[in-house]
Amino acid sequence: MSDAVATQYKPLIGHSISELESFAESLDEKPFRGRQLFDWIYRQQVDDFSKMTDLSKSLREKLSKVSTHPLKMLNREESLSKQTRKFLFEVSGGKMIESVLMKEGNRTTVCLSTQVGCAVDCDFCATAKMGFVKNLTAGEIVDQFLQLQKISDQKITNVVFMGMGEPFLNYKNSIAAADLLHHPRGINMGAWRVTISTAGVAHKIKQFSDEGHPYKLAVSLNGSTQNQRLKTMPITKVYSFSDLIKTSKDYAYHSRNRVTFEYVLLDGVNDDPQDAEKLNRLLNSIDCKLNVIPYNEIGGPYRRPPDIRIKAFLHPLKKASFPVTVRWSKGQDIDAGCGQLATHLEKVE
Ligand code: SAH
Repeated sequence: MSDAVATQYKPLIGHSISELESFAESLDEKPFRGRQLFDWIYRQQVDDFSKMTDLSKSLREKLSKVSTHPLKMLNREESLSKQTRKFLFEVSGGKMIESVLMKEGNRTTVCLSTQVGCAVDCDFCATAKMGFVKNLTAGEIVDQFLQLQKISDQKITNVVFMGMGEPFLNYKNSIAAADLLHHPRGINMGAWRVTISTAGVAHKIKQFSDEGHPYKLAVSLNGSTQNQRLKTMPITKVYSFSDLIKTSKDYAYHSRNRVTFEYVLLDGVNDDPQDAEKLNRLLNSIDCKLNVIPYNEIGGPYRRPPDIRIKAFLHPLKKASFPVTVRWSKGQDIDAGCGQLATHLEKVE
């Protein structure tokens, strides 16, 4: 294998079936060898070339020049309940990301990062404090899944793009990663089990809708009016609250997929029962679900409302025309709850 080919395809995780076919051809092999590699990597989830028994010995020798995993696992932590585990990975260039594995009854969910840091700057979020560092490649996104599936004693049933970063500001790679998770000849995760969450990059929601991607869409609403949302989410300056609602509504209408609105509940900021009333009116005509997330504190100025206020906020939503769920985030003792992911250290060489 020439060094140029090795550099282009190293590491192999992240490449599509057609890319792996081209890879095989560049090694003077038949394209079906690329499909075999796809099967081993994503369906059988084998990362050791010597175990890929239906490849010829000479091909396996050629493959020793490339690696499979783009990520290196550096650390893992487990919550006291043992239901949530958080993992630290090194990405290319020595930067770091976190991913979370959560067990809940029959469901095992993995929460994936799409960027190192984030540019969106939501005032309540730990990742925002890092600023934007870099986009992850499709391989770096999908490898979080593959490495955690290897460790998990149960099959991962759900994937959420809700870790570090804004998936719609790394649109191409996030969609490519979702496509790899969903590919029927690979990981074969049902499209409805893959959720992409956005802080509200409206023109990308429109693109997502126009392109007809089958994945679930979640929109982080986190406020009930333009001014209120603007206080914590500066992105509201660029994409107004009403635009976001309209774009989400259009998405639900055209895709015929229910949109999930996430609403992080912040003490004294957006947790008045009147906010809930506003949501009732605002979301009434949209095919949606509302997911209320009591805030996970990160040592900044924002607080989680006391339970009595959470209950008071939820009360008017009992008459909502859409389903409402509350996400009592898991793993806060290891800072693995929503919005608590941040990596502070550079790797010391
Ligand atoms: N950038 C994407 C995905 C990452 S954040 C987005 O904004 O949707 C995933 C979810 O966690 C979002 O709904 C976000 O509003 C929420 N979140 C951020 N910080 C949080 C915190 N400290 N506690 C609870 N939820 C938080």
